[in-house]
Amino acid sequence: MSEEISLGSSAKFHRWGYISSGRARILDIGSVAISRIITIISDVLVAVAFGLAAGVFLHWFLGLFVGVVVLGVEIRMLRRYGLWTGHCPHCSQEISVSHGAHGVHAFDCPICTRRVLLSENHFRVV
Ligand SMILES: [Zn+2]
Repeated sequence: MSEEISLGSSAKFHRWGYISSGRARILDIGSVAISRIITIISDVLVAVAFGLAAGVFLHWFLGLFVGVVVLGVEIRMLRRYGLWTGHCPHCSQEISVSHGAHGVHAFDCPICTRRVLLSENHFRVV
């Protein structure tokens, strides 16, 4: 038990998890693949539509430029997956935080607002 306290509480990584409207959601790889394919098709269609509109009404080169810029913005807006769940070392409530599989990340507990450090698969007191 003393080791558990010194380590903080263990956190679990969900590769296909994310936070939406303040709630943790965890998907399976199949749902992610379907959602990604639909998103990519619609993003490309939107980029082509904007590019064609600019190309037809202005200039073909401007159309190409607009299409590439729109696609770039859409790629930046793609949902980022990677979610850690566990218990806050301060208030012991179940919490989740978006972050990649590796690296150290400090954040405020969404429940007690005290500082928590995600490090080596544990939520620790800062
Ligand atoms: Zn807390």
